[in-house]
Amino acid sequence: MTAALPGTVYLVGAGPGDPELLTLKAARLLAGADVVLHDDLVPAAVLEHAARAIVINVGKRCGHKNISQEQIDAMMVDYARRGLSVIRLKSGDPLVFGRAGEEIDALRAAAIPFEVVPGITAAFAAAAALERPLTDRRNASSISFSSGHHAPDSPLAPASLAGATRVIYMPGRNLARIAGQLRSEGLPASVPCVVISRAAQPDQQIQRTTLSALDRILPGPAPAILLVGEVLRDDKAAGEWLTTSGLAASSIASQPAEI
Ligand code: SAH
Repeated sequence: MTAALPGTVYLVGAGPGDPELLTLKAARLLAGADVVLHDDLVPAAVLEHAARAIVINVGKRCGHKNISQEQIDAMMVDYARRGLSVIRLKSGDPLVFGRAGEEIDALRAAAIPFEVVPGITAAFAAAAALERPLTDRRNASSISFSSGHHAPDSPLAPASLAGATRVIYMPGRNLARIAGQLRSEGLPASVPCVVISRAAQPDQQIQRTTLSALDRILPGPAPAILLVGEVLRDDKAAGEWLTTSGLAASSIASQPAEI
C-alpha cells in the first residue's frame, strides 16, 4: 500500500478525467493526503478521492487566475515544510506539458522529498476513444507529442518525423494556423485529422476530417486534442468525416452538437 508520507510532495497524474483511469497508487495517495493542489482540468469525480484533504485549485482558468508558477512552487514547499503530505495533481501524465520541470527544480532546491506518479496522458485516452493504435505498424513507426502553443511559424515536428502520428496538445480553437504549419511540413491534404474534446469523459466529442478541411473544424468544449496521421483512417467511421465538399450525411444525423 502506498501511503502519503508527511513532509513529502507527490507529483501525480490524474489521467484524462475518468476516475476509473486513475492509477491505484494515485487513488491511495489522494485518499491519505493532507493537501491537494490541482489543475483546472482535473474533474470533481477525481477530486472525490481526496476524502480528507484541503483541496485547492491552482489552475490558471478558474477563480485563482493570478496564482503564478512561483506561488504554486512556494505553496508546495511551504505545506511540505509544515509536515503535511502534499499532492500536486495534474491532468493526464504529470510530466507531459505540465510545467513539472519548474516544480521539480523548486522541490530539489528546497530539499523537499518528492515522488512522481505517472498517469494516462490525453494522447492515449484519445487513441482508446478512436480504437486506433497510434503506432499501427502499417502506417507509423513513431509518435510525436507537440504543443499547439508554439511560436507562430515554428514547425510542429522535425521533418524526420514525416511518417509519425502527430498528437498536438493545446491546439487552440483556430485550427487554420496548425493546418498551415502541417501543410508546410509537407503533409498531404488527404491525411486524416481527428479532434477529440474531453476524451474519456462522459461528454466526449469526436470530429474527423482531413488536413484539407481541418480549418473548418471548431473544437468542442475544452480540453481538446488534435491527432494527425494515416493510422487514424478508419473505415468503420467512414460516414463521420468532414470533407472539403461538405459534411457526410450520417455525420449531420448522428453528431449535430459537434459541428
Ligand atoms: N499533462 C496533460 C496535458 C496538460 S496540457 C496530459 O498528459 O494529458 C493540457 C492539454 O491536454 C489540453 O489543452 C488538451 O490538449 C489535452 N487534454 C488533457 N485532457 C484531455 C482530455 N480529456 N481530452 C482531450 N484533450 C485533453
